[in-house]
Amino acid sequence: MNIPELIQSQRKFFKSDITKDIGIRKRHLKKLRQEIISNETAIYDALRKDFNKPEFESYLSELGIVLNEIDLALKHLHKWTSPKRVQPSLLNFPSKDYIITEPYGCVLVISPWNYPFQLAISPVVSAVAAGNTVVVKPSELTPHTSQLVAQILSRVFEQAYVATVQGGIPEATALLNERWDYIFFTGSVPVGKIVAKAAAPHLTPVTLELGGKSPCIIDRNVNLKLTAKRLVWGKFLNAGQTCIAPDYIIVHHQIKSKLIEAIKFEITKAYGQDPEKSEDYARVINARNFERLSRILDESEICLGGQQNAASNYIAPTLIDNPQIDSLAMQDEIFGPVLPLFTFETENDIDRIVTHFEKPLSFYVFSKNSKFSKRMTQKYSFGGGVINDTMVHFGNHRLPFGGVGESGMGAYHGRHGFETFSHKKPIVKKANWLDFPIRYAPYKGKLKALKFFFKWLS
Ligand code: NAD
Repeated sequence: MNIPELIQSQRKFFKSDITKDIGIRKRHLKKLRQEIISNETAIYDALRKDFNKPEFESYLSELGIVLNEIDLALKHLHKWTSPKRVQPSLLNFPSKDYIITEPYGCVLVISPWNYPFQLAISPVVSAVAAGNTVVVKPSELTPHTSQLVAQILSRVFEQAYVATVQGGIPEATALLNERWDYIFFTGSVPVGKIVAKAAAPHLTPVTLELGGKSPCIIDRNVNLKLTAKRLVWGKFLNAGQTCIAPDYIIVHHQIKSKLIEAIKFEITKAYGQDPEKSEDYARVINARNFERLSRILDESEICLGGQQNAASNYIAPTLIDNPQIDSLAMQDEIFGPVLPLFTFETENDIDRIVTHFEKPLSFYVFSKNSKFSKRMTQKYSFGGGVINDTMVHFGNHRLPFGGVGESGMGAYHGRHGFETFSHKKPIVKKANWLDFPIRYAPYKGKLKALKFFFKWLS
């Protein structure tokens, strides 16, 4: 595919104002919904082939979320796009003041492999809802799903409206060399920096949905069984390959051994005595990532799990006991089914570990002491957080989803997604029937009155 020609055709399409028609946006979103539903089984098959993703998890974390995003856009698009009246300023009296939304234009979406359907299509839904054209580059590491993403989009949209460019780094680089009106990137921190650099020469606005080391703090005072159950779910879903999975635990030293026992019990309950045989346990995406995780296990003290099978990229749900802060496990985001466990006695211990790392994408705290949870969530900066559970903030479209600092910039989901892909344009409509003379030169003798007016305004 000739990338400059593709972008030129999208620019022409956008300029024709077709995408500004709300009816056209809705018609395409409805068609997309239908196409996804008719391909439900094919999507499950593709995800299973790519990394043995269980059907239930595929609906929960891929299809269900995308369909929900489409339904929200269909239901609220008229409201989201209608001008919002705001109270006028007395400085401008008499006027009508309002905000209108306008699409940026041609949007580039680059997505990762770990939720290869959802993370490619959800931003497309928001970008189309907001009236943009889109080029999406899904991950090369999930070829079956990425092929299906391309097929589904091509059945719904003409190329000049929404197109898929498949490939890896060369294709992504070629796309980033072009001028875009908005870039939405989901992936790793190092590649996020490449994207930000590529956007800079044109001052193209970007959303960067990145990763990081998300801590999970477990206080002495918790419902241990429920904590372990929610932790096991959040950590081992998708075999730990989730940007918001708890990356490491900091547990109160008095309950450490009880927590390990409770986690062991919940792992067996979820995946049986041998998780390798479980239908419900995904695999590590490829040999490169398997080897990376395997190296971490080699140098760690394993207190649970640790079994591996290179032939199928299988790594058992694993706990690492008390790693060194500069060990391999703690150098980068783990992004796999391996969970290091630190202990704390005082809040200073927590602080030393949490502040050793960049601002994380997520932050979890389990405690029955609401003062403690409040203190923790207010003290640290992170993308989004949950008290007494893991990952569930992702599921509420009313909450903006995104990072801060090294874990990213910008946010999306539901209305927040629509707003991400829209420029908010403020308009003041001034009336002609009254025109105060004070602001016009000559200013002589007017300053006192101006000062009085400002004082009166505040
Ligand atoms: P990645 O950064 O390696 O790749 C993401 C995309 O960028 C892919 O499409 C890839 O082809 C492209 N890419 C890779 N190298 C590139 C380069 N040098 N130049 C231009 N493009 C390049 O990430 P990944 O391994 O696919 O996904 C895992 C990462 O994504 C983790 O760090 C995870 O935390 C993060 N992630 C974040 C979110 C979020 O919502 N914040 C969601 C999922 C994953």
